[in-house]
Amino acid sequence: MSQPTCGAPTKAGGSCRAFVPPGRTACVSHDPAMAAMVAAARRRGGTMAAKLRILEGKRLRLDSPAAEVKFTSNVVQDCLGGTVDVDVARTTLYGLGILLKAVEQARQSDVETMLAEVRQLVAEARRRPA
Ligand SMILES: [Zn+2]
Repeated sequence: MSQPTCGAPTKAGGSCRAFVPPGRTACVSHDPAMAAMVAAARRRGGTMAAKLRILEGKRLRLDSPAAEVKFTSNVVQDCLGGTVDVDVARTTLYGLGILLKAVEQARQSDVETMLAEVRQLVAEARRRPA
C-alpha cells in the first residue's frame, strides 16, 4: 500500500513529495493545523543553535603563533600571580607546545604545496614556445 504524497508547492518551485500522515491533508511541514507546532520546534532548534554558537565563541582560537604567544603569556602571568594552579599551567603549556608544533607543520606543508605549484608553472612556461 502506498502512502499519499503532499504535493504542496515548494520554495524551489517543485511539489512536496513528503508523505501525508493518516487522517491529514498535507505533510507535517505543509499542514496548516501543524504550523504552530512546527514553528515552536524551529524556535527550540534555533535556541539550541544560538547556545552552541555562544559556547563556541567562548573558546579561544589558538590557530596562530600570535594568539598562542598572547595566551601563553597570560597563563604564565596568572600562574605567577597565583590565580592559575601550577599543575593546570604546566598541562596547558604542554598542550600549547603540541599545538604550536602542529601550526608550524601545517604552515610548512602549505609552503611546500605552494612551492610545488610555482615550480610546475615555471616548468610549463619554459616548455611553451616564446
Ligand atoms: Zn509537504
